[in-house]
Amino acid sequence: MVRYKGISKAYGDHQVLDHIDLDIRPGEKIALIGPSGSGKTTLARLLMTLEKPTSGTIEVNGEQLWHMERKGKLVEADEKHLHRVRGQIGMVFQHFNLFPHMNIIRNVMEALVHVQKLPKAEAEARSLEMLERVGLKDRTHHYPSQLSGGQKQRVAIARALVMQPRIMLFDEVTSALDPELVGEVLDVIKNVASEGEMAMMLITHEMDFARDIADRVLFTDGGRIVEQGPPEQILEHPRSERLKLFLARFR
Ligand code: ATP
Repeated sequence: MVRYKGISKAYGDHQVLDHIDLDIRPGEKIALIGPSGSGKTTLARLLMTLEKPTSGTIEVNGEQLWHMERKGKLVEADEKHLHRVRGQIGMVFQHFNLFPHMNIIRNVMEALVHVQKLPKAEAEARSLEMLERVGLKDRTHHYPSQLSGGQKQRVAIARALVMQPRIMLFDEVTSALDPELVGEVLDVIKNVASEGEMAMMLITHEMDFARDIADRVLFTDGGRIVEQGPPEQILEHPRSERLKLFLARFR
C-alpha cells in the first residue's frame, strides 16, 4: 500500500536518506531501528508530506504524493488528492502535541468534526469508544495538564486512530516517558496491532517491542536500509558489523 521509490533527502550538504526503496504491504507491521540521525523520522515525515524529498517518489495505494520532472523539479499532487492520501495516514510523535486548552474528548473529536465533517454527536460517540479502547474513558473531561505522560500519549494514539487510518506511524512514542509509564503505552499499541488490518511503521529503540509486534525489522544507518528481515533474523542473527555493534548497546 506504500511504496518508497529511490527516495533521497539532503539538508544542504548533509545526505540524510540515500536512495531508499521500501514497500509496506496492507496490514504489515514494520519496525525501523537504527542509530540517532540515521533518517528514520525523515522517512516517516516524508510519508506524512511534512517533508519533501530531494529525489524519488512515494506512492500510497498507487497514487504518487508528488512526481519529479526532468531537471529534478518536484511537482506536488494537487491539494485535494494530498488531502485524501493524508487521510489514510495517522502519526503519533514523541511529544504528544495535544491541544492544552481543550479537554480530552474534544482533543480526540477535533479532526472528526473539522476535517471529516462528521456531525458532533457521531464524532463524540466514536471518540468515546476510542478513549475506552485506550483505557481512558474516565478521563474524558480532564485537560491534558491533568494527565500523566503515559495517559497523554494514549490520548494522542486515540486521536490518530479515531480517524481510521490505513497506516499508522509511531515515532519513538515512549522516548519522552518515565520508564514506569512506557508499558501502558506499548500495551495499547500491541492491542491495536493485534486487531489486524492496519499497517504500522514503528520507529523505536525498544527492541523487545519491535520483536513482539513487527512482521519485519529494518535497520537504517547512514541514510540507507542496511539490513531487513523477520525480527528473529535481524535481532538475533545480525549479519553486518554495524548492526551487531548497534544491538550490542541494548544487551
Ligand atoms: P533519532 O533517532 O535521533 O530521532 P532519526 O534516525 O529519526 O534520529 P532524523 O530525525 O530523520 O533521524 O534525522 C536525520 C538527520 O537529518 C539528522 O542528522 C538531523 O540532524 C538531520 N535533520 C533533520 N531535520 C533537519 C532539518 N530540518 N534541517 C537540517 N537537518 C535536519
